[in-house]
Amino acid sequence: MPLNEHQNASAPLARLVIDLDAVAWNYLFMKNRLTTGADCAAVVKADAYGLGAVPVSQALFDQGCRHFFVAQAEEGLIVHDALPAADRPGHDRAIYVLDGPRGISMDDMVQAGLIPVLNTMADVQLWAETAAHVQKKLPAVLHVDTGMNRLGFSADDLTSLTSGTGKAWLAQLDIRYVMSHLACADVPDHAMNAEQLLTFKTALQQLGRTYRASFANSAGILLGADYHFDLARPGCSLYGINPYGNSLPNMMRGVVRFETQILQIRDVAASETIGYGAGYAASRPMRVATLAIGYADGFSRSLQQKGHVHVQGHACAVIGRVSMDSIMIDITDVTAPVTEGDWAEVIGAHQKVDDIAAQDNTIGYEILTRLGKRIRRTYQQNMAK
Ligand SMILES: *Cc1c(COP(=O)(O)O)cnc(C)c1O
Repeated sequence: MPLNEHQNASAPLARLVIDLDAVAWNYLFMKNRLTTGADCAAVVKADAYGLGAVPVSQALFDQGCRHFFVAQAEEGLIVHDALPAADRPGHDRAIYVLDGPRGISMDDMVQAGLIPVLNTMADVQLWAETAAHVQKKLPAVLHVDTGMNRLGFSADDLTSLTSGTGKAWLAQLDIRYVMSHLACADVPDHAMNAEQLLTFKTALQQLGRTYRASFANSAGILLGADYHFDLARPGCSLYGINPYGNSLPNMMRGVVRFETQILQIRDVAASETIGYGAGYAASRPMRVATLAIGYADGFSRSLQQKGHVHVQGHACAVIGRVSMDSIMIDITDVTAPVTEGDWAEVIGAHQKVDDIAAQDNTIGYEILTRLGKRIRRTYQQNMAK
């Protein structure tokens, strides 16, 4: 056999196939739920939840999305560079930075037209002084905390923005939206949802003049029209994560297929041990496959003896400890032929992001954002147009 025809020799050891059509479908699904007049942003922080902020933002821009949220300014610069220039007609996109005016120079922030979310009076002062320096009203979003106690002005602090220096600083700025964030939207009947809504409406009144408002994340959109206001901010749903966790059926389309190659297959006799620590002993003669992912790729060590990977559609248990670069699985009961170089599915048709999250006592968000750098990302698009 010629060298270059050797099975899978040049294929990546682990691959993440990201379906941009599914991302677009999920975006339109969320957007179409919104009450008339409300815009739909896309939250693309943390490299679009690990899936790639550049291709994801571009695909969503093509669907008409013009509002993008990142956590850090540096992420904002990446999205800025990925999108068409904002000064072309119909291309008036906005990139909002949830962590506020920090992380890069204020000059760079202004140059790229990034819009900081202002969480504290120090943020307001800094951005107002920057506005005075460049001699124009700079755009910003004002964040009011309505009960999450994470970021934003407490409702009690709002008076400091309606009088004195606070008011003077705000006058230097073009406040595009006043926003807040829901703590419990994934539990639709949680009492805190209505409480936060009320606090938010009161805060909007307290601010004195009418600002446009932004409130709902993915699960917040599903709470209904009262929660939509002028701009919604879905994140997880775009990437196929169930906005309700596992407590209600998932309406979103799956976006990722995460697969890894079988490096080696061996037969293990009963009572032989498998993996580090020799903590797992075969209870019967077993066929064991070693896969090319480990905790360095985001496959958590806590998935030992709990996780599953699918081979030929069959759920195979992870046995023994998770290594840095490999895991072992039990393929004894897979009836279809399995050979070295075959692909095993970690996330895909048989096992959703939320399924593996449940096995690992975490949420889909963490599963996606910790997927390692060396997993090869490829993108599928326009398959169904
Ligand atoms: C991450 C985040 C979102 C998106 O939330 P999802 O639950 O992923 O839809 C929206 N708003 C803020 C402030 C966030 O931090």
